[in-house]
Amino acid sequence: MKVVLVTGASSGIGEATARRLAADGHSLFLGARRVDRLAKLAEEIGGGYRRVDVTDAGEVRAFVDAAREAYGRVDVVVNNAGVMPLSPLEALRVEEWDRMIDVNVRGVLHGIAAALPVMREQGGGHFVNIASVGAYEVSPTAAVYCATKFAVRAISEGLRQEAAGGVRVTLVSPGVTESELADGISDPVAREAMRTYRALALPADAIAAAVAYAVGQPEGVDVNELVVRPRALA
Ligand code: NDP
Repeated sequence: MKVVLVTGASSGIGEATARRLAADGHSLFLGARRVDRLAKLAEEIGGGYRRVDVTDAGEVRAFVDAAREAYGRVDVVVNNAGVMPLSPLEALRVEEWDRMIDVNVRGVLHGIAAALPVMREQGGGHFVNIASVGAYEVSPTAAVYCATKFAVRAISEGLRQEAAGGVRVTLVSPGVTESELADGISDPVAREAMRTYRALALPADAIAAAVAYAVGQPEGVDVNELVVRPRALA
């Protein structure tokens, strides 16, 4: 059984992943900014938690160090924390673009920077990076969000090639899934469009099951990319 760190474990896919992996017998260490939620979840499923803002490299290092201190090792890091304030480019919501880049791209890089040396020292480990179908296709209002997820896909593939024989790297790309992600959309047009689209959403456990599948493979098996969509969507 493994020591698994999950960022963005306070809701949605991160929470469902923590629940699923704990049920599979793994030891969980949960991270996010809303510690009250982490505390409640940790009490329910067992394991540790710590407040982490993934946009801060030092905080992510402290998060990984705390997990290592608690369990003695770090086997899997699920870089899941993400935000999606969609809007058309011409709305010029520059602050929201920056936030998506900071959380979705820098957050993943900070997770890699914090955990890769630990995994190297241990002789192995596994990164599971949560991207999106937006890592493969672009749609109106989602240009910057998709750019961040294309970046996560590129970073994951680069890490996989460079770290071959060392760490395992899995990219899990969900289609529309039940979570709090759309609550952060401030643009009224994008918000309305998302309301209709989200009616088809998958339960978050469908994505958690994909993560659990990759984590559960024998050490010599590296599951690289999983795209999970609602059947009803083309
Ligand atoms: P939620 O909004 O429910 O969860 C997002 C999580 O990210 C929360 O736990 C939040 O915790 C955390 N988070 C946000 N900003 C930060 C930060 N700066 N530092 C640390 N944690 C942060 O959405 P989802 O569960 O849907 O999102 C999880 C991942 O799945 C994201 O990467 C998202 O892009 C991806 N995804 C989701 C899809 C969907 O339809 N739901 C589809 C495709 C991809 P807190 O606010 O407590 O810090």
